[in-house]
Amino acid sequence: GNGLMAGKRGLIMGIANNRSIAWGIAKACADQGAELALTYQGDAFKKRVGPLAAELGAHLAGHCDVTDLATVDAVFDGLKERWGGIDFLVHAIAFSDKEELDGRYVETTRENFLRTMDISVYSLTAVAKRAEPLMTNGGSILTLTYYGAEKVMPHYNVMGVAKAALEASVRYLAVDLGGNGIRVNAVSAGPIKTLAASGIGDFRYILKWNEYNSPLKRTVSIEEVGDSGLYFLSDLSRGVTGEVHHVDSGYHVVGMKSVDAPDI
Ligand code: NAD
Repeated sequence: GNGLMAGKRGLIMGIANNRSIAWGIAKACADQGAELALTYQGDAFKKRVGPLAAELGAHLAGHCDVTDLATVDAVFDGLKERWGGIDFLVHAIAFSDKEELDGRYVETTRENFLRTMDISVYSLTAVAKRAEPLMTNGGSILTLTYYGAEKVMPHYNVMGVAKAALEASVRYLAVDLGGNGIRVNAVSAGPIKTLAASGIGDFRYILKWNEYNSPLKRTVSIEEVGDSGLYFLSDLSRGVTGEVHHVDSGYHVVGMKSVDAPDI
């Protein structure tokens, strides 16, 4: 790397394993000289995230479950004590009951609707609120979204509704925090086979569909999402906020299945 992130410190939330999108972003930032802190969700993930943190020389910032705001507070309090402040924050967190990422959206339960919105939407606002006082020299906050926010995608169901609310949150937070030089953006990633994606039915079909019908005729990798994330977290994007940027091989511009796409 050439040190684009030298002197910057950031918190990365949402690494489950080495296939996580947040891991792609963490690697891109570390490669450019960023100093990182990583959270994990419970002991099961600590076993995976611990060695990954070591690989990047990153600080393990502790357990964080966004449904338990005391654990969120503990992470930010710990960082304030350790570093005094932070320059960037990655929010790569989403959850919905697997059972409801199938069948009709109209069948979604109130309980899972609220839980999905809490974990996948409210959590961005909760962490932005806690990051703001730590970003005394301005900062950059990045979240991850999906095209299912804009158009109906098979099986995405309540998560599509949550991503639409997440993208609206990006715009409202951009205005709230902009006066303090804090930018808030989202990367809308094409489908990638991660742990979270394993909850989505017919995922292999969705990957193939994107491969055959996107302008680049392939899917994207966590390294590619990581490099685009790096742009948002670095000063290269200092004039950009409130944006939802597609890293999807161009899939979102296509209006019709490609005529020469093979059958899946
Ligand atoms: P992943 O399973 O690797 O990461 C999801 C993360 O969310 C995990 O680290 C998990 O610990 C965390 N999480 C879930 N519930 C949590 C809670 N209550 N508290 C704290 N953390 C919690 O999968 P991923 O695909 O890398 O997902 C990261 C983000 O990217 C998600 O917002 C996802 O919706 C988004 N995204 C994924 C794809 C894709 O195809 N994989 C495409 C577009 C957007």
